[in-house]
Amino acid sequence: MILTVTMNPAIDVSYPLGEFKLDTVNRISDVSKTAGGKGLNVTRVLSEIGEEVTATGLVGGTNGLYLVQHLPEPVIPSFYDIAGDTRICIAILHDNQQTEILEGGPRISESESEGFLNHFKELIGKTDIVSISGSLPMGMPVDYYTQLIKIAREHDKKVVLDCSGKSLEAVLKSNFKPAAIKPNLEELAQLLNKEKIESPNELKNIISHPLFEGVEWIVVSLGKDGAFAKHNDKFYKVDIPVIQIQNAVGSGDSTVAGIASALRAQKSDEDLLKHAMVLGMLNAQEKVTGHVNMDHYEDLFKQITVKEV
Ligand code: ADP
Repeated sequence: MILTVTMNPAIDVSYPLGEFKLDTVNRISDVSKTAGGKGLNVTRVLSEIGEEVTATGLVGGTNGLYLVQHLPEPVIPSFYDIAGDTRICIAILHDNQQTEILEGGPRISESESEGFLNHFKELIGKTDIVSISGSLPMGMPVDYYTQLIKIAREHDKKVVLDCSGKSLEAVLKSNFKPAAIKPNLEELAQLLNKEKIESPNELKNIISHPLFEGVEWIVVSLGKDGAFAKHNDKFYKVDIPVIQIQNAVGSGDSTVAGIASALRAQKSDEDLLKHAMVLGMLNAQEKVTGHVNMDHYEDLFKQITVKEV
């Protein structure tokens, strides 16, 4: 079983409008509401590819209830209840643009943070792989993911971590490393205080930085350019074919789902990378975020090349 962790989930509401009129009423008939947050995209993709998934994290209020009730079947929900209300994030699709209104989410108390650690300890025994995604809600200590990884490591469970900024930095500077991280170029640059990473050719040097020591897999996803990865002391360049895309939002999360499922199945390096890439690409080929059509899996898989560099 793969355990997905989403500490600050959201109900994602999408309002498609022909035209967005300011300072007046906009009426919408075609509303879509989904269980959102990066970790829930990972959850959906894992479930679509046939993995057994338990989804955990924090939920509160009637929004939280809605979110749990709208998880895809057959995901097993095991969320921890908090006093605050689960947030709502609104995307207004208009004039070929997307205007987003994102709530910050509830503030988490110290006892709720402690409570979730105990809840996580109860789940870890039944878990093969843990996949943690997204930001921490307000009120949680910056080293909270380090605490979760420590518990997972004590139970010999691998963690795939997909977060950025201070919480990622705290984990990398700690003694409790995840098995895999999946930064994109922007997140990598932010982590290393660089303005920009000029060329993927720099990546071999960059991911050899002492900060990443002890992390088994570093998969730097490069959008349409595939990925550059490090597994222990081996480096790989992954090339993918050009595809028609519909919506690449959530492709990174789908790649994370691929890494978690490949670790669970103990795939070879080459197959792990191909599996992760295909899922990112399949997501980009769909309109819906965090959705993959497995009918096209084999065709894409065989067009990907993994070269040791
Ligand atoms: P993130 O969403 O975290 O920024 P990426 O954009 O790098 O992640 O996407 C993750 C993976 O999804 C890529 O490595 C690639 O396999 C696939 N992907 C994303 N965008 C495209 C695209 N435009 N064309 C083909 N594949 C894509």
